[in-house]
Amino acid sequence: MSRGTVRGGAGCAGSIAPVRPGAQNDLSESFEEEVRAFLSDEEKLHLFDDLTKVNPVTTTTVLKCLQARYRVNLFYTNAGCSLVALNPFQPFSCLYSPELMREYHVALHPQDLKPHIFAVAEQTYRNVQNQMDPVNQSIIVSGESGAGKTWTSRCLMKFYASVAASVISPKGSETVERIEKRVLDSNPVMEAFGNACTLRNNNSSRFGKYIQLQLDRFHHLSSASIQTFLLEKTRVAYQAPNERNFHIFYQITKGATAEERLEWNLPEGAEYRWLPNSERNLDEDCFEVTRAAMFHLGIDRSTQSNIFKVLSGLLHLGNVQFSNPVDESQPCELEDKTKGFVKTTGDLLEIPVEELLESLRIRTITAGKQQQVFKKPCSRAECETRRDCLAKVIYARYGPANPWHSCLLDVYGFEAFPENNLEQLCINYANEKLQQHFVAHYLKAQQEEYAAEGLQWSFINYQDNQNCLDLIEGNPISIFSLLNEECRLNRPSNTDLFQTRVEKALSTNQCLSRDKFSKKPNFIISHYAGKVCYQLAAMVEKNKDAVPPELVHVLQNSKDPLLQKLFPVTEKNQNNIKSQNRAPVVTVVSKFKSSLEHLMQILNRTTPHYIRCIKPNADCKAMTFKREEVLSQLQACGIVEAITISAAGFPVRIPFQSFTERYEILRKSCGSSKRRVCDESNSHTAEKKGETLVMDEDKATRSAVLEILQNVVKGQTTAE
Ligand code: ADP
Ligand code: MG
Repeated sequence: MSRGTVRGGAGCAGSIAPVRPGAQNDLSESFEEEVRAFLSDEEKLHLFDDLTKVNPVTTTTVLKCLQARYRVNLFYTNAGCSLVALNPFQPFSCLYSPELMREYHVALHPQDLKPHIFAVAEQTYRNVQNQMDPVNQSIIVSGESGAGKTWTSRCLMKFYASVAASVISPKGSETVERIEKRVLDSNPVMEAFGNACTLRNNNSSRFGKYIQLQLDRFHHLSSASIQTFLLEKTRVAYQAPNERNFHIFYQITKGATAEERLEWNLPEGAEYRWLPNSERNLDEDCFEVTRAAMFHLGIDRSTQSNIFKVLSGLLHLGNVQFSNPVDESQPCELEDKTKGFVKTTGDLLEIPVEELLESLRIRTITAGKQQQVFKKPCSRAECETRRDCLAKVIYARYGPANPWHSCLLDVYGFEAFPENNLEQLCINYANEKLQQHFVAHYLKAQQEEYAAEGLQWSFINYQDNQNCLDLIEGNPISIFSLLNEECRLNRPSNTDLFQTRVEKALSTNQCLSRDKFSKKPNFIISHYAGKVCYQLAAMVEKNKDAVPPELVHVLQNSKDPLLQKLFPVTEKNQNNIKSQNRAPVVTVVSKFKSSLEHLMQILNRTTPHYIRCIKPNADCKAMTFKREEVLSQLQACGIVEAITISAAGFPVRIPFQSFTERYEILRKSCGSSKRRVCDESNSHTAEKKGETLVMDEDKATRSAVLEILQNVVKGQTTAE
């Protein structure tokens, strides 16, 4: 084991020189010359398939290399432990063909083939088979919105499904095929219910998803589970300008049969307030694909029809408009033209119209020692909030967090829109958490290990985002805690006051600032990926996410079989109306924080693999590479630092025990048989680099390791 200066690992495609301890200086000089010559030859730049081999690693060289590769349709590039994936914004079916999947699956060393998500997938699969420590593996797919995360995870699922299908399971290939089909069919369904067209991406996932694939002891896919979190349910009732509602609504209105149109009351050409931009036809609007996939998932036609009926009801609900009553002691009135919509909503949700109207317009208050019940008409704004809320609670239970069924993580990417609110705050917070996971697991761990091993190492300044996380979620005071406090105190929200409170309480955190030119109350957070300005209007309200008990009650009384299932009557619910004033406030941010923490716990027990999706241009144009845009994403995700560390550090780390087991044969003999073994074993490891970081204090194994390494060095010298 080398204990000299941490160095080496550099090389360029096609001409990898082994870097040996003790013989570094002369080798590296000639080597660097070679690399310089190589780099000046722009035509060959695309041949670097690992960014850690570019020398020197700077943002400029890395960018040049990525651009050169992009030009010749090489979209994947290794970067140490991460894979950089550039979005071509144009289909290349040969890149994802079953033949190619097979090639990576049967390869002796998949990592030696061209960088590809299939190489990551196969390596992960083998790690599970080889009982790497920890056995659980995770693939974290990250990147901005529109960078290609969902596409990537879809391809990875296809890969695993086909790998599982290619082996004959002792349970019979039928089980495997069924799981495979289910895994793949879950995609169109989840996308129909959970994706929407945004400014950034026509098919943007509006929820996070965590897919768990389980292998049995024969390494066959034995089960798959998909967990989703934080569906952006506000989208059902509110779509930002130029954005759309969830795909499923457009699918229904465009694809329903004549009969269904009658049944669901969706005449051709009818207009719905919650269905903006429906004149835009997208590939994602195809109803048939969703229906077929749902069918394969075991959702029969009549249940499907039931689901679509209720969703049609929501479209009608969206058209219901209230107006102020003449007499304020009376409930709000319905605008004439919307009376029909209330009736249709009631019919489709199977709720008596009077009950529906009462739940939307009248608040029940319990007060006094006797717990007397009062009824009070809601203001027009309150009625509208209730209408939207009804749609949201129903959709949230329907949405992609569906009961049809359970590693791969596809989260929403970092978001910065002209207007940002609680949704973006949660999304960007999730991204900060994942970035910290990357930093902690990769950058920090690596550097700390070198320090612990007593290896010389010049500390690289990396962007640690703890400060930003403290600002958002820290204890005792953070943006989350202040938001929660507002909800708990339940006082009329005053955004100006809240802005002052945030600024005062968190003034020492450098990640916080404010857009002083804006008239609207706001705060700016300096995220690892850039600054984002959040508007405070309605943020506290959104965080409350309170569902008026009257709405739950009316849904519980619905005659619709599916709504009955989704809103069962329990004792707790029944008491809810009475005890509403004392119910503890579970806020959106506290729920989100705890589900994210749960996810991080799972991830911390796995060996992570990272796929960094990059969006080469903001306009989603095919084959267009904008350097500045790529650069900001590379910097934002810490890839540049990671590349530097990978390139300079020890590329391989194997526990003593596994190392000696694997290379035992090199200890005993150092002749011709040894060379054969070197050729056959993974060429990424010891014998190629001549340097391996081994960690385990067991002395006997340690000396065995040393012996093997010495033999390797001797062998290389004789071979030269
Ligand atoms: P994200 O999930 O990161 O927001 P998506 O995976 O939905 O982004 O990708 C956005 C769009 O980019 C896709 O709809 C698709 O058109 C295109 N795209 C992404 N990755 C690829 C790829 N590898 N090949 C071709 N097109 C791609
Ligand atoms: Mg997505």
